[in-house]
Amino acid sequence: MTDLLDLTYDELKRLVSDMGESSYRADQIFAWLSKGIESFDDMRNVGRSLREKLSENYFVYAPEIAFKARSKIDGTVKYLFRLRDGNCIETVVMRYEHGLSVCVSTQVGCRMGCAFCASTIGGRVRNMTAGEILSQVIFASKDMGERISNIVLMGIGEPLDNFENVTAFLKNVTHPKGVNIGWRHISLSTCGIVPRIRELADMKTQLNLCISLHAATDEDRSRIMPINKSYGINELISAARYYIEKTGRRISFEYSLIKGVNDSKSHAAQLARLLSGMKCHVNLIPVNKVKETGLEKSVRVNEFKKYLEEHKINATVRRELGSDISASCGQLRKRISEEKQEEVF
Ligand code: SAH
Repeated sequence: MTDLLDLTYDELKRLVSDMGESSYRADQIFAWLSKGIESFDDMRNVGRSLREKLSENYFVYAPEIAFKARSKIDGTVKYLFRLRDGNCIETVVMRYEHGLSVCVSTQVGCRMGCAFCASTIGGRVRNMTAGEILSQVIFASKDMGERISNIVLMGIGEPLDNFENVTAFLKNVTHPKGVNIGWRHISLSTCGIVPRIRELADMKTQLNLCISLHAATDEDRSRIMPINKSYGINELISAARYYIEKTGRRISFEYSLIKGVNDSKSHAAQLARLLSGMKCHVNLIPVNKVKETGLEKSVRVNEFKKYLEEHKINATVRRELGSDISASCGQLRKRISEEKQEEVF
């Protein structure tokens, strides 16, 4: 059995036509799926016989909201969605001036091993399917009763370690007959899987690419991000330049400031030198404390930003949202699974 939401629009069209139905049926089904349905019977304008035929090999699934918290400080909502096999993932909805932005997960867990990150602590359980990734956007929007205007792929998981499903998701979520969110309103963040960055560039979309850099020398970066041992900084920067060249887009570099690790003036100088002249932007993130990592938030965030700006590097400090509800990646899933274990044992 396959999740109907895993099919791309073109695959759905082919399926419906193979069933001898006219092609507008596929449009109707695609539109229903994009609205968020719980069963085939919800597709009221689709005939019973087609619904029955579909249900022989396909299912529709609405992920269960296993937990939901709303920040009293800024209204950020965090969902813990339970997938069909019982695994849970996190989705966060943030409110900005220009509308709602949803942060989606792409894998159950993560195998990238970054030293500061909560999502990677238990390793990778499995990839999420295209439909599971999409269902976060659809069902968060349905639950909020509002349209989502931006998507960030910055939840649990490394999107480019699940390339096929993530690109299928992107095709569906941007489709005019579906959720219909423009590429320019979607940001994908990667720890730096270089060959996949190049593949994304070759797709020539208007997707915003964010690269988690966090250090400007191989020595420093390899210490906190194991991926750097496979793809070093030179390769990464050249892939970033390739992305800019192919798409015309500006790249965002994320830099989480960790006390005593990557936040000194010389670190800022190295970063400014590395990015000099590039069409990019630096997003500084005061590192979120994760108990297990022992890493602390930098107290030099403003100085760091000022140094970059003085050296003509565009920089902003990321707003911290939902700090009262463990809104940052991986924190909630971990907390809940720990609490569960306590209950069980
Ligand atoms: N795997 C992707 C997507 C995760 S996005 C990636 O690495 O980019 C989440 C962003 O938050 C990444 O830039 C990640 O490096 C950063 N991050 C992870 N844990 C963090 C923490 N404890 N404090 C601050 N930033 C963190």
